[in-house]
Amino acid sequence: MQVDYIIVGQGLCGTWLSYYLEKAGQSFVVIDESKPSTASKAASGIINPVTGRRIVKTWMIDELMPFAWQAYRSFGQMLNIECITQKPIIDFFPTPQMRLAFTERYEKDQQFLSLPENENDWLPFIQYDFGYGIIQPAYLTDIQSLLSGRQHDLSAKSQLRNEYLDASLCIDTGHTIQYKDITARKIIFCDGIAGFNNPFFNNLPYGLNKGEMILVEIPGLPTEQIIKKGYNLVPWQGNIFWLGSTYLWEFEDDQPSKSFFESASSWLTQTLKMPFTIVEHRASVRPATVERKPFVGLHPSNNKIGILNGMGTKGCSLAPFFANQLVNHLLLNEPIMADANVQRFKRILSR
Ligand SMILES: Cc1cc2nc3c(=O)[nH]c(=O)nc-3n(C[C@H](O)[C@H](O)[C@H](O)COP(=O)(O)OP(=O)(O)OC[C@H]3O[C@@H](n4cnc5c(N)ncnc54)[C@H](O)[C@@H]3O)c2cc1C
Repeated sequence: MQVDYIIVGQGLCGTWLSYYLEKAGQSFVVIDESKPSTASKAASGIINPVTGRRIVKTWMIDELMPFAWQAYRSFGQMLNIECITQKPIIDFFPTPQMRLAFTERYEKDQQFLSLPENENDWLPFIQYDFGYGIIQPAYLTDIQSLLSGRQHDLSAKSQLRNEYLDASLCIDTGHTIQYKDITARKIIFCDGIAGFNNPFFNNLPYGLNKGEMILVEIPGLPTEQIIKKGYNLVPWQGNIFWLGSTYLWEFEDDQPSKSFFESASSWLTQTLKMPFTIVEHRASVRPATVERKPFVGLHPSNNKIGILNGMGTKGCSLAPFFANQLVNHLLLNEPIMADANVQRFKRILSR
């Protein structure tokens, strides 16, 4: 089999890379070992324009949000699914200090922040004492439909192999990369946390971060907003909601933990004014980086080997944007943003 590209991994990064390569008329095969507990399969899908206790705008959000809206709409149309919607985030203040921080920020910048007309309107559903603010526009992407829709699409076109790619079996023939029976011009690794052990890129400064979530059935809770009150409670499917998450930089394993389950259960009991049933508990590890910036581009020592990884906590907005940038770089030699370009690690990758 002869293709322009081998894409390793069909998480958010590989899925978006396959989309832009297809749009550009390139041939490719995606190799994905179809693990059940990847970061993309645990993600809630939120694109939140603000972050932190100071409620500041997230990195590049003015560029990322309009880009993501268009990209998810177009990809959704191609797959016949709706995979992005606007969902305001109802930000319940945990303390009077946080209420003050929000209102002070709101007075300075109202691009993404607003205050409700009636602060009591969530009282039939949620227990809260210090009111709430609204973050909007915010987006909710339906990653699970996107991944499975693209998986079926690629399978139908014979462009997907469900298997593990052993990077040590990749042979550089000089002009091409040979992997088993596949000859490709280039191979691009979109392998998420497996990149940590990838022989071509394992020197990069990854900073892996564990997150846990549960799926919970809550009949009667409105589904038009995302609820934020320490944890996020996100409409998932029907009356099932996603609740999470944790952000652990140090952890012993990637398994669901008793401590998160107990913390999430007690959050639900204390926060909801209606019955609920926990239906699933998952854990996964985010492919984060020490600098909190992605790894995008071609290996400094071998331009037949590339990477799209390190999306950390923001894969939903960063993956489409940088997949597009990578394809424009590969085909049109356009530059990759310096902060994200993997060439910034030329020295350590050339060791
Ligand atoms: C609990 C949780 C909640 C999150 N919520 C959000 C959110 O709301 N918004 C947001 O923007 N981000 C969120 N994220 C982060 C987001 O999930 C990640 O940034 C993103 O999914 C990373 O995608 P990826 O394609 O790089 O990696 P992955 O999703 O891990 O995909 C990598 C793929 O490569 C495959 N693979 C790896 N090595 C090989 C190999 N050698 N051979 C074959 N296949 C291979 C794996 O099986 C996998 O399918 C969340 C993450 C977690 C854990």
